[in-house]
Amino acid sequence: MYIQNGVLAIISKIKEKFWFFKSMRVHALLALFIIGVIPLLFFSWEILNTYDSTAMSQRKADMQSQGNSLANLLVSSGYLSDTSSDEVNTEILRIADLYEGRILVIDSKLNIVKDTYGIEDGNVIISEDVIKCLNGSSSSAYRGDHNIEMTVPITHTSSKEIVGVILMNFSTKNIQNIYVILYRKTTVLFVTTIMLIFIYAFFYSGVFTKPFLNLKKAIGHLTEGYMDDEVKIDGFYEVQQISLSLNQMLTRIKNLENSRQEFVSNVSHELKTPLTSVKVLADSLLMQENVAPELYREFLVDIADEIERENKIINDLLSLVKLDKAASDMNITSVSINDLLELVLKRLRPIAKKNNIELIYESYRPVIAEIDEVKLSLAFSNLIENAIKYNVEDGWVRVSLNADHKYFYVKVSDSGIGIPEEAQDSIFDRFYRVDKARSRGTGGTGLGLAITKNAVHMHKGAIKVYSKENEGTTFTVRIPMNYIA
Ligand code: ADP
Repeated sequence: MYIQNGVLAIISKIKEKFWFFKSMRVHALLALFIIGVIPLLFFSWEILNTYDSTAMSQRKADMQSQGNSLANLLVSSGYLSDTSSDEVNTEILRIADLYEGRILVIDSKLNIVKDTYGIEDGNVIISEDVIKCLNGSSSSAYRGDHNIEMTVPITHTSSKEIVGVILMNFSTKNIQNIYVILYRKTTVLFVTTIMLIFIYAFFYSGVFTKPFLNLKKAIGHLTEGYMDDEVKIDGFYEVQQISLSLNQMLTRIKNLENSRQEFVSNVSHELKTPLTSVKVLADSLLMQENVAPELYREFLVDIADEIERENKIINDLLSLVKLDKAASDMNITSVSINDLLELVLKRLRPIAKKNNIELIYESYRPVIAEIDEVKLSLAFSNLIENAIKYNVEDGWVRVSLNADHKYFYVKVSDSGIGIPEEAQDSIFDRFYRVDKARSRGTGGTGLGLAITKNAVHMHKGAIKVYSKENEGTTFTVRIPMNYIA
């Protein structure tokens, strides 16, 4: 275990030390460098090789044709039996000089009849190449370090019999000299170009990575808390897109922060209101002497109401906080929505009856769906309770359930007071109440619809409101039959 930790620590230290291998700039630099250098290297190598092989084969072709014409001359002049011909000797020497080489003329008995160096005249030559040539194979060439050796058969014109061999050993020094010059020039060109590529790659990789460094700086600035600044980065399109997304994220964070602050101040305010009332009621009792027991009773009832209200706000807040948690908190089971709605309606019927409101339930088909029963019960209960609370005397509330293969739909309509158009966008906000005095009278906290919306959204559903003042309100809820995680 200790050893393993030690190894891991060493690896992470090495990684830290060689961070530059992960650097985008180093990668860009290497890529540009490789793209520039490899073709250049290949190109230089190819030029040098092509020169060498072309010059060598040209030299061999020259030797071959000189050898053939010399062989013809030797046969026609009968040189192999009489080497005294000046004309032929001059010609042999001319060719040998031309290529800074040596020519040996050998007869069929392997006797050297002419050596342009004048060293081996009259000697016998034992050479595999010469014997092969005499035995009928055609000319062959062998490349040495600084020379080319070639054997050319001397063939009798009429009998086609091989009567001797010309052995040529020509220098390739001048080809090599040109090769060396070419090699030096290519190397200079190669090194200069590599340096230029390196300088270009160095600067360009800097230009390439600069916007990313700027982005890092900007994010660091935000992390330090300068959230009001906008991130603005010029450069490549992609980086501009990143800074655009970053700004969108920033706006979202700012909005969240604003709504969090607003929420906290709303919560404090809402929790304080009943407490203030309790204090006022208690103080006014304490300030009076000889208070009649009926007054005590009246005030205590009011105090109990305020405590009840405080309790309700705290309960609603707890529900909301629970719903704000991650979706993993969902307790999904297959539930009959018909049964669920009937149970909610049963619980609310006494309140409806108290207000003389008719509760109608319409179900078009049995619906079984994968849902979190507690959360959706709360959501539908809030909607139906609102429909009862914000209704008129002798009004009605109609709850209907329908479904297709993908979703089920719950509609809650009422004949109530309706919601003014300008308020319809805000009713789902926490603590929002259209008519504060009235909803306080009905015991509202302004959290009910926020809870409902959260619960519906956690099921990947949708909620919509249609309302006309003094005519009534309809909430429609659409929830997928199968839970989408
Ligand atoms: P509350 O606890 O005040 O009922 P909600 O979040 O449930 O809070 O509702 C927010 C506001 O929307 C209510 O205060 C009320 O003004 C309005 N509202 C909600 N439902 C209805 C409805 N069915 N008819 C009329 N107004 C409604």
